[in-house]
Amino acid sequence: MLSPVPMVAPAARKSRQARVVWGDRVVTVGGDAPVRIQSMTNTDTVDVIETAIQVKELAQAGSEMVRITVNTPEAAAAVPYVREQLDRMGENVPLVGDFHYNGHRLLTEYPECAKALSKYRINPGNVGKGDKKDKQFGQMIEAAMQYDKAVRIGVNWGSLDQELLADLMDENNRRAVPWDGRQVMYEALITSAISSAQRAEEMGLSGDQIILSCKVSGVQDLVAVYRGLSARCDYALHLGLTEAGMGTKGTVASAAALSILLQDGIGDTIRVSLTPQPGEARTQEVVVASEILQAMGMRSFVPSVTACPGCGRTTSTTFQELAHDIDKHLRSQMPVWRVKYPGVEKMKVAVMGCIVNGPGESKHADIGISLPGSGESPAAPVFIDGEKALTLRGDRIAQEFHEIVQAYVERRYGAAKVDN
Ligand code: SF4
Repeated sequence: MLSPVPMVAPAARKSRQARVVWGDRVVTVGGDAPVRIQSMTNTDTVDVIETAIQVKELAQAGSEMVRITVNTPEAAAAVPYVREQLDRMGENVPLVGDFHYNGHRLLTEYPECAKALSKYRINPGNVGKGDKKDKQFGQMIEAAMQYDKAVRIGVNWGSLDQELLADLMDENNRRAVPWDGRQVMYEALITSAISSAQRAEEMGLSGDQIILSCKVSGVQDLVAVYRGLSARCDYALHLGLTEAGMGTKGTVASAAALSILLQDGIGDTIRVSLTPQPGEARTQEVVVASEILQAMGMRSFVPSVTACPGCGRTTSTTFQELAHDIDKHLRSQMPVWRVKYPGVEKMKVAVMGCIVNGPGESKHADIGISLPGSGESPAAPVFIDGEKALTLRGDRIAQEFHEIVQAYVERRYGAAKVDN
């Protein structure tokens, strides 16, 4: 007897919950919170205006926390002004300070910087060597406790604690059957993150306010490390493939790695570390992160456009242009629509190239159009809520479809008639 094919969904996550706060804005990370999106600026933080503008762009694209570089006394001195500028622009996205090497000094000597940030990113691999390591790490944790901030203890295998790695290598050499060198590396990453978090807790920082990450640049390595990390602790986890690369390669690698882990229920906040291509907006990394979560069915950010790839049956590029136009239009409307038309982010639009799959796919969408393929009569049936509503003809098909979508959004998601 046939049994039904089991349905699948991401496993439930089971981490503690951190709170990253600025004013009235509270971004919860972990626990029952949705998987959060983060990004990082590539401006010189000393340039207050340029940094504030980029933070705002990233936030408007959907980044729920934005990390900025705090690498020098000048950058630390600029941080409160970046914050002030953002507040003046009406942007309350929490800022995360990225500290390396001198973070202990900057957080101590620039208290206004420490207050203006909502979370500190600490890399245990470069807080200092030997005796200084614990002391300098401790100073950063003290600052987090003093100002009631969350921390991310972020280990990266490009800057792994070399003393710890050497100890683990020695230990491995003493094993009857030594582990693979990669496994020793995984162990070093996980041990560095968890032991640092435990030290922070021993100092008095709440474990709820600690987020961990162990970033590597290989997909299979990332999956292995995070599965190990997640099995050994219940801290909230920040997920990301470091140095993912440019364009398609970086996008695909990030999507592959993050999707596997998110499906396992691993990961409470994500960043896609894309190297922007010349002329490409920094916000692309936020778009990719949102698309990953939306494709996984975990969150909805923008209405989705289902478009067929086109084939020999397609007579022209009309349907490609229409799909592209609609997608662009929907994205550009979202900053306003998100507030004006609640639920619109779940809308599904289909733009199909011919009659083979067009009507069927269009019926599954909230609103869809099936353009005429090669040899078909020049008519484009439009389906609304699964029913054929009308047929468009002539040169203004694209324009008229835009208008129909707009009217549908107003009718279905308008404030007076929210029905979903
Ligand atoms: S819907 Fe039609 S045009 Fe689009 S890929 Fe399928 S057969 Fe080709």
